[in-house]
Amino acid sequence: MTKSDEFQLAGPTPNPWFATLPRYEPGRPLEEVARELGVDGIDEIVKLASNENALGPSPKAVAAMQAVAGRMHLYPDGDAFYLREALAQKLDIPATHILPGNGSNELIELLGHVFLDQDSEIVMSQYAFVIYKLVALLFNARTITVPASGFGHDLEAMRAAITPRTKLVFIANPNNPTGTQVDAGALDRFVADIPEHVCVVLDEAYVDLLLPGQQPASVSYVRAGRPVCILRTFSKGYGLAGLRVGYAIGQPEFLHWLNRARQPFNVNYMAQTAAIAALADDAHLAASRQMVRSGLAQLTAGLEKLGMAYVPSVANFLLVKVGAGREVFAALQQQQVIVRPLDGYGLPEYVRVTVGRAEENVKFLKALAAVMAERRDLEPA
Ligand SMILES: *Cc1c(COP(=O)(O)O)cnc(C)c1O
Repeated sequence: MTKSDEFQLAGPTPNPWFATLPRYEPGRPLEEVARELGVDGIDEIVKLASNENALGPSPKAVAAMQAVAGRMHLYPDGDAFYLREALAQKLDIPATHILPGNGSNELIELLGHVFLDQDSEIVMSQYAFVIYKLVALLFNARTITVPASGFGHDLEAMRAAITPRTKLVFIANPNNPTGTQVDAGALDRFVADIPEHVCVVLDEAYVDLLLPGQQPASVSYVRAGRPVCILRTFSKGYGLAGLRVGYAIGQPEFLHWLNRARQPFNVNYMAQTAAIAALADDAHLAASRQMVRSGLAQLTAGLEKLGMAYVPSVANFLLVKVGAGREVFAALQQQQVIVRPLDGYGLPEYVRVTVGRAEENVKFLKALAAVMAERRDLEPA
C-alpha cells in the first residue's frame, strides 16, 4: 500500500496516476535541522543545500521591500508591467516576450498545464533537474530520459529521442545538480534543427552567476523566432529565493498560452518590487559572481587536499563524490552543515554542496574531513 492509499479514507477518488506520484525532496530548512539537533538559534548551522545566494538579497531590494511593506493590503499588478519593462530593457527584447512566474518552477508547471497529457512526452537528460519529470508525472505524460554524456547533456542523442508525441525538450544550462554547461556550438545546431511540433525549454536558473563570456546566446534564439522558451529566476544570482519570482522569455504567441494557464496574481507585490530593485543593483550581482568564483576555487582546492573527487562546475554548487551519499549527508548534518543527498537523481555516491561565503566553505571542508576520517576508521580493514 502506498502512502496516498492510506489517506484515501473517503471522498472522491483521485486521478489514478496520483497514487504513485513522488514528492520533490527539498533542501532541509535551517529551523527544522536546528530543532532536530536541539540547538537554539539557526546561526550556528550552515545551509549549503539549495544553491541559494550566500551573500543574501541585494540591499537595494531589501530597502524597496521595506518601503512597500505598508501597501500589502493591495493586490499586485497582475501583468507585472514594471517588472516586465525592467527585464525588457536589461535583455534588449520587447516586454511582450517576457512572462513572470511564481518562481521558474511555476512556469515549468504552466508548461505542463498547457502542453502535457497522457498522450504526450517530454525529453530530458539523465541527471538533469528532477522537477521536469515530476511535472510530466503530474500530468500523466511520459518522460524520455536520455543517458548523460559524462555528467552533461548529450544533445545529439536528445535530438534522436524526439518522437511525434514529444512536446517539450528540457535543457538545464548550467544543469543542476551536475554544474555542467552545454557546448555553445552544439546548442546552436540543436536549436536550428528542432522539429516544428517541439519547444526547447532552456532552463537558465544559474545564468546570472556566469561571467559574461560564459553566458549562452539563448536570447538571440528568441529574437530569431526559434521555438525556444528560456526560463530564468531571481532565486539564485539575485538572492531572492524566498520571494518566488522567475520569468520566461519566448515568442508572444507561445507565452500567450502560459498566460492563460496562470493565476491572475501569480507574482506577488513584494516579489515584483524586490525583483525590479535587484535588477538595478549591478554591484550586488558582481559581488555574488565574485563570491562564487572564489568559493569554487576554495572548495575544489580543499577537496583536492582531501583527495576527494568532484565534478567540475560552472555554477554555485559542486557534486562531491563521498561514497555513501545519504550517510555522509546525515553525518554532516550532525556537524551542523546541511548539504543535499542525490540518491533521488541516481547519484547515490555523491552529495551536492552549494558554494557559500569563505567561512561557510571552511566549515564545510572541516566537517567533511572529520566525517570522512571517521568513516575510514569504521571501515573493515
Ligand atoms: C533553482 C532552480 C530553479 C529555480 O527555481 P525557482 O522556482 O525559480 O526558485 C529552476 N531550475 C533549476 C535547474 C534550478 O536549479
